[in-house]
Amino acid sequence: MNNQDYIQKGQEVILNTYARFPIAPVKGKGTHLWDADGKEYLDFLSGIAVCSLGHAPDALIPVLKEQAETLWHASNLYWLPKQVELAEKLVRLSGLSKAFFCNSGAEANEGAMKLARKYFYRKGEPERYEIIVFNHSFHGRTLGALAATMQPKYQTGYGPLPEGWLAADYNDLDSVRRLISSHTAAIMLEPIQGEGGIYPGTPEFMAGIQKLCDDNGLLLILDEVQCGMGRSGKFFAFKNYDLKPDIVTMAKALAGGMPIGAMVVSERAAAGFQPGDHASTFGGNPLVTAVACKNVEIISDETFLAQVNARSAQLMAGLRALNDPRLTEVRGMGLMIGVAFTEEVRPLVQLCMENGLLVGSAGGNVLRLVPPLNITAEEADAALDIIKTALAAWK
Ligand SMILES: *Cc1c(COP(=O)(O)O)cnc(C)c1O
Repeated sequence: MNNQDYIQKGQEVILNTYARFPIAPVKGKGTHLWDADGKEYLDFLSGIAVCSLGHAPDALIPVLKEQAETLWHASNLYWLPKQVELAEKLVRLSGLSKAFFCNSGAEANEGAMKLARKYFYRKGEPERYEIIVFNHSFHGRTLGALAATMQPKYQTGYGPLPEGWLAADYNDLDSVRRLISSHTAAIMLEPIQGEGGIYPGTPEFMAGIQKLCDDNGLLLILDEVQCGMGRSGKFFAFKNYDLKPDIVTMAKALAGGMPIGAMVVSERAAAGFQPGDHASTFGGNPLVTAVACKNVEIISDETFLAQVNARSAQLMAGLRALNDPRLTEVRGMGLMIGVAFTEEVRPLVQLCMENGLLVGSAGGNVLRLVPPLNITAEEADAALDIIKTALAAWK
């Protein structure tokens, strides 16, 4: 079967929810991916910021194999050793208190928002249920996460959405202040907005958000589903700021390509949930947490993170040196990089692909680079060369 065979079959039997590019990946190793026609790509999208050690990483294969022969699933009716080990690591790295595991980013955010409501309910303040979120945010596709995702293109047609989410403007403290009332429970944001166009929060904005939370007794919820797990150059993106969050959600790269979601929460927020309040059948199962443990151990290493920052500097410098009148800004943090253009970048993404480089887009006009965190300097240069070629061909 070649690309065209899979595309044809797929169009027959797969629900039409994605504007897919016309290739069918069949094999990956490190930063390299091959499609069903045998064409090779340098993968600077890594499954949308998921495969942070590259494809089929040598460091994780033995762990996956060993766990596959030991125990896959037993349920959260019992204590699961690998889940406990992963929780210990995330608690230590975050400085927070307790972890909960699920299967995706949307599910992690649902859990975070449910916890915020239950926390105030248990405190005897059930009228505090509103969560302030931000325009251009992305928190996932389930109804609750969608209510928090302030982008019309995602919300349209799904009403009525659950109530209690208010939209402020990112990097605009006054817009947040205006929305705080006796009903406010939490402020929720991405330290670096991802799908919305790769916008890092400014240090002043983040400090102001922390102060608003402190002054008004609000929970601070950080969505690190995309920007966490080393992507920003630190294991947690919030460590680039002076922040004391109550809830931090994670997913995408946490297990290097195995499906997982998680949240770590502060001691006070943890009191919001009691047995029976929230659950997930697969959440944190032995197979995925075994892989996540090893992945987190590798990615949280300071020497590893120093390499992320070195590659970041190299790529940002190379991108800023591109001489194209349509290019307006290069922004981001670590290896979460957005290149803003004056027009829709989908044709550019397609041209990059044709020239052997996989990249993504964010917010329509922004080229998104989220390569594996362990790319080499040579791979970064090769990607820059292909982007140059694609730009020259982009009419
Ligand atoms: C991808 C993403 C989500 C949703 O994750 P899913 O696993 O697709 O549900 C939520 N928040 C952010 C910031 C994301 O990038």
